[in-house]
Amino acid sequence: MGESLPWLLFDTWRAKRLGWAGIEERQRVRLAEIVAFARAHSPYYRELYQGLPDRIEDPKLLPVTDKKKLMAHFDDWCTDRTITLDKVRAFTSNLNLIGEPFMEKYTTVTTSGTTGTQGLFIVDERTLRVTNAIALRWITSWFNLWDLVKIIAGGFRMAMICAFGGHYAEITAATRMRKGSKLRAKLIQAFPVDMPMNRLAPELNRFQPAIVAPYASTGAMLASEQEAGRLNIHPVAMILSAEGLPIPEYERIAKSLNTKVRYSYAASECMFISGNCKENWLHVNADWVIFEPVDENYNPVPPGVMSHTMLLTNLANRTQPIIRYDIGDRIMVRPDLCPCGNPLQAIRMQGRTADVLKFNKENGDEVIIPALVLELDVIAGIERSQVVQTSETGLRIRLRLTPDADADYIWQMVEAQVRHLLKQQGLSHVTVERAQEPPEQSPGGKYRTVIPLG
Ligand SMILES: [Zn+2]
Repeated sequence: MGESLPWLLFDTWRAKRLGWAGIEERQRVRLAEIVAFARAHSPYYRELYQGLPDRIEDPKLLPVTDKKKLMAHFDDWCTDRTITLDKVRAFTSNLNLIGEPFMEKYTTVTTSGTTGTQGLFIVDERTLRVTNAIALRWITSWFNLWDLVKIIAGGFRMAMICAFGGHYAEITAATRMRKGSKLRAKLIQAFPVDMPMNRLAPELNRFQPAIVAPYASTGAMLASEQEAGRLNIHPVAMILSAEGLPIPEYERIAKSLNTKVRYSYAASECMFISGNCKENWLHVNADWVIFEPVDENYNPVPPGVMSHTMLLTNLANRTQPIIRYDIGDRIMVRPDLCPCGNPLQAIRMQGRTADVLKFNKENGDEVIIPALVLELDVIAGIERSQVVQTSETGLRIRLRLTPDADADYIWQMVEAQVRHLLKQQGLSHVTVERAQEPPEQSPGGKYRTVIPLG
C-alpha cells in the first residue's frame, strides 16, 4: 500500500493541499515506520536504538549519526543483509557500470568526499518512485503550459553538464535516462564538466537544448559566455545543481540566457530535499524529509537563525536508512509563510560554495576552473585535498592521505591529473607544487576544496 507511482503522485499532491498539518501527520507515521524497519533489519540501528521507546514519532528522541559512522559500519547499516561494502566497492569502481542496476535492483550513488569520507549510497526502487513523484510536483509548480509548449517545440532536447569519472548522481541519472531508447539517447546529451569552454560552447550551440542542467558554477560560466557572444542558446529552463550561488547570480543567468532558472538543494543521501520557488527560497519536501536545523550541540535553532548544521532524515529509503544524519550544511528556515504561497517550509542554505579558480592563458584569455573539477579525493588513498592558488600562474596542492597510502605514488597521479587538466584548458604554464602541510580549515571550520587567489 502506498507504494505505486500513481498513489505517490496523488499523495504528494494531496499533502501539499492539506498544508502543514497534512505534512506533519505524514512525517510522524513515516518516521515511526522507517525507525521500526531499521531496528528490525539493520544491526547498526538495532544497537544504536537499544533502550529507546518502541514507537518513535519524534526524531529528537533518536541519537545523531553521520557519514563517517555509517560508512564505518557499512555492512551492518544496510537492511538488505546481502549488500556488503566489498560488493558496492567492486561495482562502483567499474565506470562501465554507471547507470546499471546494482544487484539487479538498486541504484548506487557515490560522493567525492568533500567532507572527508567518501559516501556510497544505495537507492532502492521505492525511493526512486518517491523521487519521481516529488520531481513531478516540483516541475508542475514551475512550468506553465506555455513553457511546456516551448519545450516540446524545442524538440525536448536536454543537455546535462556533469562530472564523469565516478558513479555520481547526475551522470548516473543521465545514463539511466538515455538507456534503452535511441531517441532518448539523442535527445538527452551529457557533457563533461571539465570540457574547456571553447569546446563546450560550440557543442551547445550545435545541440540547442530546451533544458540545460549544469552545476551552479558552470551555469554562471555559461551566462558569461552568452554575454560575451560566444554562446548562443535559448533554453526554456536552466536547472542548476550542486552548489549555491549568491541570489543576484541566479538573476544574471536568467537575464543573459532569457530563461527560467531553477535550482535544488539535494544530496546523494536524499535526492529530493528541496527545490526553489520564484521568490528564491528552497521549499523542503517535508512529507518525505525531516530536516532539523541545529547548533553545534545538536539543539534546535529557531527560524530566522543560520544553523551550525542540519540533521536529515530520508523517509523513503528503507534499504539504507538515513535517520537523523548530520549532513554538514548550514541552513536558515524562513520565519513566515513564503509569499509564493507554497505551504512547505522555506529555507536558504550556506556552504557548498561555488569556488572557482581564475587564470589567464598566455594569450591573455581568462579561464575559469570550478572547484568540482579539482576534487582530488576521488583518488583512492586521499582522505582530503585542497588546491590553493598561490599566484597568477601557480597552484599548491595539500593532501591528507589514509594511513596505508603510498605518498609518492599518489602524488604522481595527482600531479599527472592536474597537469592534464591545465593542459586541456590551455594553461600548461601554470606550475603545480606539492605542499608539505595538510589541508587547512577556514575560520568557519570548513575545509574548502579550492582556495582562490586573494
Ligand atoms: Zn516560496
